[in-house]
Amino acid sequence: MTTERAARPLLRAGRSLGRLILGAARRMRRALDDLVLGATCAGCGTPGSVLCEVCADHLEGLPGLLTTRVGVPPVVACGPYRGTLRQVIIASKDRGVRSLARPLGVLAARQASRHLPTGGRVLLVPVPSSPAAVRRRGYDHVGELSRVVALTLRGRGVRVRVRHGLVRVRRVRDQAGLGRDERLGNQSGSMRWRGAPPNAPVVIIDDIVTTGATLREACRAVAAAGGRPLLVVALAHTALSRPDAELRPTGERPA
Ligand SMILES: [Zn+2]
Repeated sequence: MTTERAARPLLRAGRSLGRLILGAARRMRRALDDLVLGATCAGCGTPGSVLCEVCADHLEGLPGLLTTRVGVPPVVACGPYRGTLRQVIIASKDRGVRSLARPLGVLAARQASRHLPTGGRVLLVPVPSSPAAVRRRGYDHVGELSRVVALTLRGRGVRVRVRHGLVRVRRVRDQAGLGRDERLGNQSGSMRWRGAPPNAPVVIIDDIVTTGATLREACRAVAAAGGRPLLVVALAHTALSRPDAELRPTGERPA
């Protein structure tokens, strides 16, 4: 028996132990969130856990939306930015409930996997938050989301790696209340690619798509570094409330 073969059971045991520890850490984090929040569902406020079964089922049943109209590669979102999805995103983003990144990331990955080539290799690139926003939230919520999306996609056979390649090179104004053109001007030239050029097609990850101004800037910076933006994956899209929205369901219920 070669040394390599002899070491296999040991490696497997090591991996199992790793998974056990990760699982325990996740449960501890969820329990801590429950403690901080008084264990109420982020979607509906029912006491018990940060996401009740009814709300989790509702999120899993969202059909997903696809648009090709924001001037960037196709954008796939889990659903419109309203109702339960909106409440859960707000809790994850602005109330610092980190454990919600997991159910949200799994949802986003399911949507993404339908539009990614099987067996292909991609880089997941989170849209960077400003350092001030990260400090305020206590964590980088889109980065965390990207990590979960990557884990889930790997489980579905996609060769994927998270690369924090995009950085902010200047401060941008808060986008809330700005019109489409103002948003474009606000974002223009605000990002750049850091480090070695992207060595695989890029999937941009973001939380909420509004006019697409942030995504356009992210894709510009990726392309300027020689990369190829392939797809944008977001949690929610606000455009459904607009009468000219050209979003269509991505297909059957996510598997
Ligand atoms: Zn609920």
